[in-house]
Amino acid sequence: MSMKCMEKDCVNELMIISINDGEDRLNLCFNHATIFASDERLITLEGTAPQISSSKLDKTCDCCSEAALEASELDPFNDDITWNLCMDHLKKLLTHQLSIEEYKSLYNIYGDVYLLHNDFYNSGVVFQPVGEGV
Ligand SMILES: [Zn+2]
Ligand SMILES: [Zn+2]
Repeated sequence: MSMKCMEKDCVNELMIISINDGEDRLNLCFNHATIFASDERLITLEGTAPQISSSKLDKTCDCCSEAALEASELDPFNDDITWNLCMDHLKKLLTHQLSIEEYKSLYNIYGDVYLLHNDFYNSGVVFQPVGEGV
């Protein structure tokens, strides 16, 4: 299975975020996953790339009661992590915009992992969301 980023013309095969809704799978490099989470319209997928829709998985978001997608971080230098999150919370995670309660819920499950790193949050208080400031 190809794990290349599905953004048109992107050749990145490292640090892939693989989002799976139970039927389709969307693979994006970390960079394009962050852009996707900021504004889906900024992403130009390859012609054959699947669109991810509502989850058909029998899973619940770790932050709310919505049906969860699986989002796996495939990083050759660290253990893979699979997040169970709805699209809204996945986007918040990728753009470092979780609320204190959401941050705590995820930290209790996943611990001190990159996307929950202290650099992005100050004791769970967001201070540097992606896409704000200059
Ligand atoms: Zn990419
Ligand atoms: Zn959620």
